[in-house]
Amino acid sequence: MPRPSARISGIVPSGKNGWEVHFAALTRKQAGEDVIMLSVGDHDFDTPEGTIEACVEAVRSGYHHYTQLPGLPRLRAGLARLSEDCTGVPTAPEEIMATIGGQGALYAACQAVLDPGAHAVIVSPYYATYPGTVRAAGGRFTEIETHAENSFEPKLDEIEAALEEDTRAILINSPNNPTGAIYSRETLERIADICRKRDLWLLSDEVYWTIRADEEHLSPRALPSMKERTLVINSLSKSHGMTGWRIGWLTGPADMIATMTNLNLVATYGLPDFISRAAIAAVENAYGVAEIAERYAKRRTAFLAAIHGMNGVTVRGSKGGMYVMLDIRAVDRDSEKFAWDLLKAEDVAVMPGVSFGAAAEGHVRISMCQDEAVLREAAGRIRRFIGDRT
Ligand code: PLP
Repeated sequence: MPRPSARISGIVPSGKNGWEVHFAALTRKQAGEDVIMLSVGDHDFDTPEGTIEACVEAVRSGYHHYTQLPGLPRLRAGLARLSEDCTGVPTAPEEIMATIGGQGALYAACQAVLDPGAHAVIVSPYYATYPGTVRAAGGRFTEIETHAENSFEPKLDEIEAALEEDTRAILINSPNNPTGAIYSRETLERIADICRKRDLWLLSDEVYWTIRADEEHLSPRALPSMKERTLVINSLSKSHGMTGWRIGWLTGPADMIATMTNLNLVATYGLPDFISRAAIAAVENAYGVAEIAERYAKRRTAFLAAIHGMNGVTVRGSKGGMYVMLDIRAVDRDSEKFAWDLLKAEDVAVMPGVSFGAAAEGHVRISMCQDEAVLREAAGRIRRFIGDRT
């Protein structure tokens, strides 16, 4: 067989994708075992009824055809209004590119700003696909480590020290997966300063912007002179309960979006027609948004209360998004071993922190994707597992 390209082989160079514990747990769950799945960031509830009805109606009405690039005009208009809510910046449809999920937006953003060999700075812990997405664009990256002790916020001097001659972009994510951190205004202002000073793109992943308790969501796109150098990555997956529908979008300068439409042309040739119509209904009616946000706020509170006070095993810095990071360093520094052992002993699936970057070693990520009773049961099992080890 002819060999695959170096680019494709290099996306996950270790051959391990970090999801091994999750898939082992899923196989057991599907075989009927009583495994509590807290490893994945997918909702345990269905997409809101209004969105489903709009989709069925669209299928029945003959919306089975190619759509415009980069998104149906009414979808772009709806996403532009949603972007205004998210970023606080007046946004025109020309500043919107609809993509296949938030991952499609991340992929497009990295392709758009990184030349082969170009360098990016990513903040660790990070969403698990970031390294591979940078590599798929031919880019290199340096990880800036953040820690629970600083509420998982990056330090300015460390970002500056990581910059290289051909650094093109900084990639951040707030509210954060996996830590739940929401960056302070001061942190975002400092990152924006660096981007302005060094003429860098800021790729700001804001897919969890609606899922936060009382915290403010501040988008760096709203900071002075950042509109022209920020690409905001967004998605309906989490906010509107639409993970499987694969609708995301990018917000950025109109010229950049126009250039990026060529990527849309060659990568996907647009989005599915009837799903775009359902997305329009979801956006125009905000189906599920408030309920989903409230549900996750309640779940986080319930889980944090249930896990509290466990022999030095703690959660810190969790303010938004769908996850908390449990600091397990008091009992184990090897997060992968901990996750396998927990699955074996107590049938609870969590993600090893190390899947989200070296800074997350000594932690496991717990997804709030189950109802409060299941989260309390899981906390009890984790407590017993940790109690047995100390
Ligand atoms: N960005 C972050 C931080 C995520 O957690 C996810 C999904 O979990 C994505 C992007 C991708 O979103 P989507 O599922 O819409 O592709």
